[in-house]
Amino acid sequence: MKTKNGLLKTAKRYWENEVCETCGGSAIREVAVEVYRHRGGKRYLFQDVPAGVCSDCGARYFTGHTARMMEERMRLTRSGKRRKTITMPVLSLT
Ligand SMILES: [Zn+2]
Repeated sequence: MKTKNGLLKTAKRYWENEVCETCGGSAIREVAVEVYRHRGGKRYLFQDVPAGVCSDCGARYFTGHTARMMEERMRLTRSGKRRKTITMPVLSLT
C-alpha cells in the first residue's frame, strides 16, 4: 500500500508480536516519523516515513523495504531528481 506521496505504508499489524531489540518491550506501534540521513557529504530529511516505535524506550525500527526506499530516493536525488530543497539555520552553542 502506498500513501499519496508514494512512500510505502507498512501495515499497522506488521509490528505486532515484535519485541524491541533495545529494551525488550513488546509495545511497538506504527508511527510516521522524520528521518535524517547523511550520504556523500549531503544531508537528507525524509518526512512521513513509516516506522515501528517502541512505546517504552522510543527506539525506531524500519522495514527492510522502507530502508531500501530511502537509499533509493537519496541515490535518485544525487542524480538530479529531488522533491524540494529547504534551507535551515545552523546553530552552535560555543
Ligand atoms: Zn524499547
